[in-house]
Amino acid sequence: GTALVWFRDDLRVRDNPALRAALAHGPTVALYVLDESSPGIRPLGGAARWWLHHGLEDLASSLEHLGVPLVFRRGPAAAVVPEVAAQARAELVVWNRRYGAPERRADTAVKSLVRAAGREAESFQASLLHEPWEVATQQGNHYKVFTPFWKEVSGRDHRHPLPMPRPQREAPDRVPRGEDLSSWALLPRTPDWSGPLARAWTPGEAAGLEVLKDFVGPDTADSALVEYPEARDLPGRPATSRLSPYLRWGHVSPFQVWHAVADRRRAAPEGSAVFASELGWREFAWHTLYHHPDLATENLRPEFDDYGWWTPGDPSGTGPAGGGIEQLLDAWRTGRTGFPLVDAGQRELWATGWMHNRVRMVSASFLVKNLGVHWRVGEEWFWDTLVDADAASNPFNWQWVAGSGADAAPFFRIFNPRTQGKKFDHDGAYARAWIPELGSTEYPQESVDLAETRAAALDEYRSLGQSE
Ligand code: FAD
Repeated sequence: GTALVWFRDDLRVRDNPALRAALAHGPTVALYVLDESSPGIRPLGGAARWWLHHGLEDLASSLEHLGVPLVFRRGPAAAVVPEVAAQARAELVVWNRRYGAPERRADTAVKSLVRAAGREAESFQASLLHEPWEVATQQGNHYKVFTPFWKEVSGRDHRHPLPMPRPQREAPDRVPRGEDLSSWALLPRTPDWSGPLARAWTPGEAAGLEVLKDFVGPDTADSALVEYPEARDLPGRPATSRLSPYLRWGHVSPFQVWHAVADRRRAAPEGSAVFASELGWREFAWHTLYHHPDLATENLRPEFDDYGWWTPGDPSGTGPAGGGIEQLLDAWRTGRTGFPLVDAGQRELWATGWMHNRVRMVSASFLVKNLGVHWRVGEEWFWDTLVDADAASNPFNWQWVAGSGADAAPFFRIFNPRTQGKKFDHDGAYARAWIPELGSTEYPQESVDLAETRAAALDEYRSLGQSE
């Protein structure tokens, strides 16, 4: 009998347990649903839509080589998936699991509707090394602090990646009608701002595996892992993997990354361990989202509900920067704050859909602490502009920087963007690469007084009854 495999955040054919189960069952049809109408599902940002379009084209062509047709449909998953399963006369419907609450609700609804129609439905683990419900403290609670979480899980064994599947021998006899990908208008048109994105990235599975291969290196001496622990903080050096969008869209699986890095453990023991722990932060962010479904909207530390952060349209708070906050927010978004490290980062983000991690931290801290703008406003901007924006890592890291998260940086640790620039971009190469007018009169003056705004943020923090 026919099988239907429903693709979501797993746009790959290798190491894809759902696809493998479908192909083992019988003639397989693949489905992707653009779901913008299930309750609570967060609409994709602009950069994500661009990536998705190209990622789906790549997936369609990989599946074509396997003889598997990919059907595109739009609508709420609970309506579309059972309908396509019926049209394909599928006996079995399979997918890889998702972890956000609205996604899980949709998947549960699909599962029961599919089963009620007399078909089998099965889901698999593919996007995380550890299912969030399988990691608990000795008291049976979920972890709220990274270090013990990672201590608990980093020593576990992780399955080896599944190989490339073989083309299917028998074609499915009924392929439901799909929509034309271009009719979804995922690509920006007026204006088309995607040129620099396209120069920076090649979305897709083969490209992602190439990025992974280049990063771990052909042999130990050439591996970027050797200098990763030191160089990962220097935005002017291409020292990090840039795997984040490939992991976000599932072009590359965490199992593939884990084992590629483990193979370099002997040559680069420290680098492999530090890098693996970064993958661990990704796991921990999803672990946190699973246990706190409203991570993107609610402070994990409720005492921060009384912090006077400014949000657009809110006349009551002005933040420590005082007036002119709309203009300051605009200057932050467009990279004109007068602080080179922040501005370079924001411009890199706007152009390429990605920003170096050190700079993400500095820029986020500047917005939240010096400008006094609510972390949600920054989170939404990143959500719209990052090609790696994900529903867990983005809010998790914003809350980490803001101090409102579970295992967050202490609030009073306020990055100084000037000092951070001297330390991590000491020759200014990164700043100059993104700010051609740097050092000329065209480049803006520093838009706020760092010492004053810092003091104001600390006052506000103390007014919550918190001490340093
Ligand atoms: P590498 O250093 O090569 O790390 C390897 C992988 O580990 C990354 O690809 C990523 O999957 C994971 N990783 C590394 N650091 C983190 C982290 N702090 N949290 C979670 N995963 C991590 N990362 C996202 O993937 N999506 C986001 O939406 C996102 N938003 C962020 C927002 C803010 C304010 C901050 C401070 C960080 C955010 N990050 C996010 C984390 C981090 O900045 C990026 O994962 C990293 O810069 C990606 O570059 P890389 O692949 O070269 O990283």
